[in-house]
Amino acid sequence: MALLQISEPDQISEPHHRNIAIGIDLGTTNSLVATVKSGIATVLKDYNQNELTPSVVHYASNKITVGHEALQFRTTDPKNTMISAKRFMGLDVDLTSKNPVKVSSDILSHLKQIAIDSLGETPIGAVITVPAYFDDNQRQATKQAAEIAGLNVLRLLNEPTAAAIAYGLENTESGTFLVYDLGGGTFDVSILSLNKGVFEVLAVNGDTHLGGDDFDKLIYDFIINKIGVSPISDIEEATLMIASRNIKEALSMEESSKVNCKLNNTLYSLEITQNDFWDLSKSLLNKTLMLVKKALRDAKLTINDINQIILVGGSTRMTNLRRLLHDCFHKPPLTSLNPDTVVALGAAIQADNLAGNRNDELLLLDVTPLSLGLETMGGLAQKIIPRNSTIPVTRAQDFTTYKDGQTAMTIHILQGERELVDDCRSLAKFSLKGIPPMTAGVAKIRVTFQIDADGLLSVSAVEQNTGVMSSIEVKPSFGLTPEQITSMLNESIKYAKDDINTRLFNEAKIDAISLVEAIEQALQTDHELLTNNEEQQILLLIRQIKTQIEGINPKPLLEDNAQSPRTILKQLSIRLNEVTSGFASKRMNKAIKAGLSGKKIEEI
Ligand code: AMP
Repeated sequence: MALLQISEPDQISEPHHRNIAIGIDLGTTNSLVATVKSGIATVLKDYNQNELTPSVVHYASNKITVGHEALQFRTTDPKNTMISAKRFMGLDVDLTSKNPVKVSSDILSHLKQIAIDSLGETPIGAVITVPAYFDDNQRQATKQAAEIAGLNVLRLLNEPTAAAIAYGLENTESGTFLVYDLGGGTFDVSILSLNKGVFEVLAVNGDTHLGGDDFDKLIYDFIINKIGVSPISDIEEATLMIASRNIKEALSMEESSKVNCKLNNTLYSLEITQNDFWDLSKSLLNKTLMLVKKALRDAKLTINDINQIILVGGSTRMTNLRRLLHDCFHKPPLTSLNPDTVVALGAAIQADNLAGNRNDELLLLDVTPLSLGLETMGGLAQKIIPRNSTIPVTRAQDFTTYKDGQTAMTIHILQGERELVDDCRSLAKFSLKGIPPMTAGVAKIRVTFQIDADGLLSVSAVEQNTGVMSSIEVKPSFGLTPEQITSMLNESIKYAKDDINTRLFNEAKIDAISLVEAIEQALQTDHELLTNNEEQQILLLIRQIKTQIEGINPKPLLEDNAQSPRTILKQLSIRLNEVTSGFASKRMNKAIKAGLSGKKIEEI
């Protein structure tokens, strides 16, 4: 039977003798760097006193420009201006000049320089935040970018966990927190639990196409509707979009806001109230609440279990949003920290901690967004680490050989929720060679999946009798976008019934094939033990089983009823077992007789 084992979380690394460390929020649109100065987490400013660095890099033949200065090139030289590299992290192994890892490393170098200029010395290391849904490849890519930038990565930290740390929630005894992160273009919700200083991300959910921009668009459409005139040029459209965003932001502070816009050479003036905005935005806000509820369901929690709601992202300044969350959770969300900097501040606190400047030990656990497992006989996926498992985690399971004398085995590592290998994502393959030849099913191969504190996966396989071993670290060959993760999850739900039926059929098929192979071998050596009639009956059943297996389309919609291919196959296998039971007894007798021949009764 499978052996499963879960590791203890890693201990914090040894304190470093120098103690300036930084926290970096490497964002899709903007990035920040922060540190702890005199015990207080502070965002570091660049020479123009900016806290935010746009995550934009411009490449000229002799110069790389990052941040605010690179922004201007978005219109003048878009081909050489890289934006939103984070969305593509881990999707690309091509190490040409402007791949996402290189772009991110240039942003990180820039942030490191801001820190050096501001602090007057080089930090000993950095904590870099990543979305909780980032997979192995995306985390590897982020680490690689930091290494290229010459940063010593103390650890990668999930963004929601960083936000909770910024609020000092790790100092509470225990609790369950919901992190609601609504930025300009994306929405993420995470549920964290804290127990004795240990954070655990219980569930994550979100929408990569829902953010502040959508609320701007609601106001934009409202204005056009009200005045009955549409913009006639790109410039008018862009101007009205900016005016809409300004109104939205003003409504976070005022009861109403006035817009003056010039459309088609006519000046229009319009007043929009918080109530108008509330009516407009209700359905979008409810959409985020649906995702919140999904995350709660995944974490097996209810609204009443949440002790605090933490807000992250500029859009969480919207009054209507705060009101909705307050009503929904029957308590006000935490709002005392700036939602734009809260993640970087938490990362700085964690970096300070890892640099040995704090005595309190803070362990952080995260979750795997999708299940990890391996391919078994019949093209089936066997899950080893289920999705939403907290990391670091180690799980082991024993497997065995399929054929007599089998001396090698391919370990095919998979990611996803589906039952069939073809429907999962292939992460890597490696071989275990040198298994001593044994009868099928006797070898015991322990396969261990380990995900470290940074979410990086390594898999090893050891043959237990000889200690022969092979292992692999999953390298960033290609990654998944959050959309792909969502769609993989949705498909697993949509096809759950078909998948289970297909799995059951494949299991029945493997059983039937081994039965047929064993009987065919027996017939070769001992068919003289059967009458012609008996042999014909067995051969007929074998033919029927083979036809049944071959006749099935590889991905059938298999209903489980009396007429289903699985039921028919099982019945045929049972029948074959029945009609060969006499044959088996005769073979047994023959073997015993052969063993006894020539022996005296007292020798037995
Ligand atoms: P982020 O991606 O976290 O920087 O968030 C940017 C989004 O926050 C944009 O859609 C902004 O319009 C929005 N935002 C910034 N300040 C406010 C505010 N005071 N009220 C409402 N939304 C805001």
